[in-house]
Amino acid sequence: MIGSGFLRVSRQMGLPGWTPAHQERLESRRVFLAGVGGVGGIVAQYLAMGGVRELVLVHEGKLELPDLNRQTLMEVSGLGKSRVAQAASRIGRQVPECQVTAIDARVSPALSSLIASSDLVIDARTNFEERFLLNRLAKLASKPLIFSAMHGMEGIVAYLRPGKGACLECVFPEGDPEWDPLGFSVLGAISGTVGSLAAVLALRFLSGYDWEEEERMTVFEGMDLSTRSFALARNKGCCLCKDSQDERPAQREDVE
Ligand SMILES: [Zn+2]
Repeated sequence: MIGSGFLRVSRQMGLPGWTPAHQERLESRRVFLAGVGGVGGIVAQYLAMGGVRELVLVHEGKLELPDLNRQTLMEVSGLGKSRVAQAASRIGRQVPECQVTAIDARVSPALSSLIASSDLVIDARTNFEERFLLNRLAKLASKPLIFSAMHGMEGIVAYLRPGKGACLECVFPEGDPEWDPLGFSVLGAISGTVGSLAAVLALRFLSGYDWEEEERMTVFEGMDLSTRSFALARNKGCCLCKDSQDERPAQREDVE
């Protein structure tokens, strides 16, 4: 970053192997982020602070008091007001160099051009209707997708390449997992952990820092603080992928 922004990122530029080229890449990237709640809000903050040039934030709805156990971009003064507008305003105060576009809406095909002009799509929504639509729009635009989700004390993040490798429907071929609908119980710190994991993945992808192009899923278990990580592959039975050419080697096993 130029000027005051350089000092902001000086600590991450001291990381072993982190070069000016990694930082320059970050500062040329645009990210489409669906969700600015407990998970997505953390992602948005760390991407902006890391130097990402532009964020397109998409989230429908107004702030309610029960949101405030986890949604770190929100404030009591914003109760009853648009969450995504508050997120954009807060990031604008924290990182003025980051360009933020706020859209108070659900994920829809009307947002296709914004997805197509982004370098990465991040899913931090809570319902699988929007998640699966985002997966399909990412496939249409040939954009990689980072999936981030939590349920109870468990969190999941995954790097996916809809249309090229594994997509979200490959991972959840039966449709929505049997997770509780909106209003499920949430420990704010679990949301924050999942958001941080997704942000690490996104910053490494966007900068190219120690990045290996491979679809992977990491599951975080909050009860014993353990993680497990494994490679993903396209599911031969996936409705979305069955007509796509697979550029991955054939020996990988399908996801169960
Ligand atoms: Zn698929």
